[in-house]
Amino acid sequence: MSRTITIYDTTLRDGAQGEGISFSSADKVRIAERLDAFGIHYIEGGWPGSNPKDMDFFAAVAGRKFKTAKIAAFGSTRHANTKCKDDPQIDMLLKASTPVVTMVGKTWSLHVAEVLRTTPEENLAMIADSVRYFKAQGKEVIYDAEHFFDGYKDDPRYALATLRAAQDAGVDMVVLCDTNGGSMPSEVGRITAEVCNAMKCAVGIHTHNDSGVGVANALAAIEVGAQQVQGTINGYGERTGNCNLTSVLPCLVLKMGIDCVSKENIRHLRELSMFVDDLANVRHDIRQPFVGATAFAHKGGIHVNAVEKVARSYEHIEPETVGNRRRVLVSELSGRSNIFMKAHELGMDLSKDTPEVREILQQLKQLEHAGYEFEAADASFHILVQKLLKQHKPFFKLHTYRVIMDKSGADGPSIVEASVKLDVHGEVVHTVAEGDGPVNALDTALRAALTKFYPAIAQVRLVDYKVRILDSSVGTAAKTRVLIESTDGTDTWGTVGVDDNIIEASWEALVDSVEYKLFKDEQRK
Ligand SMILES: [Zn+2]
Repeated sequence: MSRTITIYDTTLRDGAQGEGISFSSADKVRIAERLDAFGIHYIEGGWPGSNPKDMDFFAAVAGRKFKTAKIAAFGSTRHANTKCKDDPQIDMLLKASTPVVTMVGKTWSLHVAEVLRTTPEENLAMIADSVRYFKAQGKEVIYDAEHFFDGYKDDPRYALATLRAAQDAGVDMVVLCDTNGGSMPSEVGRITAEVCNAMKCAVGIHTHNDSGVGVANALAAIEVGAQQVQGTINGYGERTGNCNLTSVLPCLVLKMGIDCVSKENIRHLRELSMFVDDLANVRHDIRQPFVGATAFAHKGGIHVNAVEKVARSYEHIEPETVGNRRRVLVSELSGRSNIFMKAHELGMDLSKDTPEVREILQQLKQLEHAGYEFEAADASFHILVQKLLKQHKPFFKLHTYRVIMDKSGADGPSIVEASVKLDVHGEVVHTVAEGDGPVNALDTALRAALTKFYPAIAQVRLVDYKVRILDSSVGTAAKTRVLIESTDGTDTWGTVGVDDNIIEASWEALVDSVEYKLFKDEQRK
């Protein structure tokens, strides 16, 4: 029989404490809905009373029916030398009206004496009273034992006494927290096993990633009997972040055969990860295990050759099982297999042993030497291959372009104007546009010229524009590489341009971008 583990998400509380992460209360509701649809069991919404956004969230979800998830409000045990009913913080927790209350309390005698400045006995009473108070209100109560592993290493008897105080008061689960993130997997495994033996109630694990082993620590605890794992999507959290659920989930389901979220839902893991990044306004980390864009990207020629024969040879799981995909990167490290598989991935018809493959490879190596990079510029690679196969058909011809920048006085506004003269189907068009900068002006003028002939061009937007000055070798001018990412709302594609002149490099990438869009639409017709 497979074991069942519950997943407790704290993206909205611990995750929101990460540097550069902020969610509006509307974002929080959308994330909660998404986590629920994914099959997460507990969603911690925040700390009521710590900020008005958290209270708005609890008001918005109160009384809402979730499919799998229960909403938890987070807070701490009552203050020293007071009663629960007189503690305003406890009152706020109650007002959040959630089915689950998660309370944090002190384990470590150092914190009890130095931070709380109270006695060990009063700390035990604070834990027991608070648990009993919320149990009497009909809540499911989870007790988060702060600094558990540090406290246990210092004084195991007192650390266990704090858990027993919660257990004897009727707590539903005690969660061992590696709050400072300094513990090693072997310690977490050993201590969790000892706790599981000593306790009658369920035990959970909450780890931080300060030593780079947040996920490993959580898995070590689960292996010896922990029944709940707490973490955040994409590992957001204070300092270096929390245990990353986008790694823990596929490990549990795909590798350890543990029942927590269905395999079908794990196929949407990458989507979930990107959705949360989007709402947090964070750029997706391409190197994230399982869900990052490079998680199944193959670059070295030998690897690609092997993957083409047996995917398993250089992949630990099938990318589709977590909603990711295999990518072949083309670069100067490529062999013929890269070119062949890449062309295949882009839907181009190319057989491996045609002389063109060799020619493409040679051309590619020359261009990379000149400063081009095609790893993030699939669309430019596509056009390059078409040109070499003599299948490329230009959609327009350039006569001239011109960019003028005008600035009067140090504080005066700067005005940039670009004009473009093209030949489209034998007709000469001439457009002028202003812009925030030379590339923006040029892009606007180019698209204005083409829209009359190809209305779909109006859908294209530049989403990213990156400039890199390449090292100059002795005696030559530095070159500029421009990478552009464009979208039409359905697809996103990258193009590249290289030149001594930044405007010419940008123009090259812009032209590839619009040509790729026009080509793509024509293919679909
Ligand atoms: Zn935490």
